[in-house]
Amino acid sequence: RLVLGIETSCDDTGAAVLDETGRVLGEALHSQKEIHMKAGGIIPHVAQQLHRENIQQVAEEALSASGVSVSELAAIATTVKPGLALSLGVGLQYSLQLADRYQKPFIPIHHMEAHALTIRLTEQVEFPFLVLLLSGGHCILAVARGVSDFLLLGQTIDIAPGDMLDKVARRLSLVKHPECHGMAGGKAIEHLAQNGDRQQYTFRLPMQQYRNCDFSFSGLQSLVNRAIFQKEKEEGIQEGEILSCVKDIAAAVQHVVAAHIIQRTHRAMLFCLKNSILLPKSATLVVSGGVASNQYIRKGLQALAHANGFAFLSPPPRLCTDNGVMIAWNGIERLRAGCGVLYSTDGIRYEPKAPLGIDISKRVEEDS
Ligand code: ATP
Ligand code: FE
Repeated sequence: RLVLGIETSCDDTGAAVLDETGRVLGEALHSQKEIHMKAGGIIPHVAQQLHRENIQQVAEEALSASGVSVSELAAIATTVKPGLALSLGVGLQYSLQLADRYQKPFIPIHHMEAHALTIRLTEQVEFPFLVLLLSGGHCILAVARGVSDFLLLGQTIDIAPGDMLDKVARRLSLVKHPECHGMAGGKAIEHLAQNGDRQQYTFRLPMQQYRNCDFSFSGLQSLVNRAIFQKEKEEGIQEGEILSCVKDIAAAVQHVVAAHIIQRTHRAMLFCLKNSILLPKSATLVVSGGVASNQYIRKGLQALAHANGFAFLSPPPRLCTDNGVMIAWNGIERLRAGCGVLYSTDGIRYEPKAPLGIDISKRVEEDS
């Protein structure tokens, strides 16, 4: 059985065809990142327009690379939640038309479920496992108990870590930095941090008063902005010019982001073991999302995992960010599990906001 996966929830137009064993027969991806980076952020109607311009070509490219015709597909799987309404709409409309024309079953996909299950495409991982998703739009700690069975332990109460790193990078004008040409904000910070002294700055760890697994990055962002402003005054330079101590700031920011993520993840591990949600012998931490490609954060999480008897797993970087492969894989998982496969396209809508699984964050807090 073959599945076509389609992704348009944010700023990537992706498509892929996979077979039931997870073999990628064909894939295509059109990223809008560069265009949005120039604009300083994603403008929803621009994203929509670009998805419209590219969706057909991306889908056809994935199909032709796979040598599979639409009539041979077992189903079409498409991201319907969560994401930008205007972006989700393009992929959904295209997919529903295709499903109707060829009379194919349709599998609506939760974008974060797809991120969480991607690891099962590249590694042998059995349920349950602990999963941490770190990206530009999300920060989630959850237990994956089954293909469509998740327990939500915690999430960000304001912005996601990638968003915060991008904002700090913009405030530091890192696009103008000679060593950071063409890098995403988080990537630029990681690069500069390698040669910075993090101890020159200390930023208070967020959410110390909350004994839960939620995250917060916007207060931290304000603290960093204040430090940057202070330093600009000291050095007598204007906003937009590069500070001499930019590497030290990058290192300190990266460190506090890592420390915050590690602290919340540690609490999640202890909660899961104490309540037998995960078994000590087979406990696994899976980390994904664009920010998971940060080596400093990754190494910290890896050390945490091993210190607590967890295996540490992360998909390869190209599967950590948005793509069509993970959507098709989620379709395969659902097809195999026999859940969420629809034989009529009536009444299917996209949902910009959609929680992942059952929220047990209050229980975590009471228990900690
Ligand atoms: P979502 O998947 O939640 O819809 P998104 O598409 O913005 O959001 P991704 O493509 O998974 O997320 O990740 C992009 C984010 O990852 C950006 O914020 C970027 O700055 C960050 N990022 C990329 N590389 C690194 C790195 N090496 N270190 C830290 N952050 C990074
Ligand atoms: Fe994503």
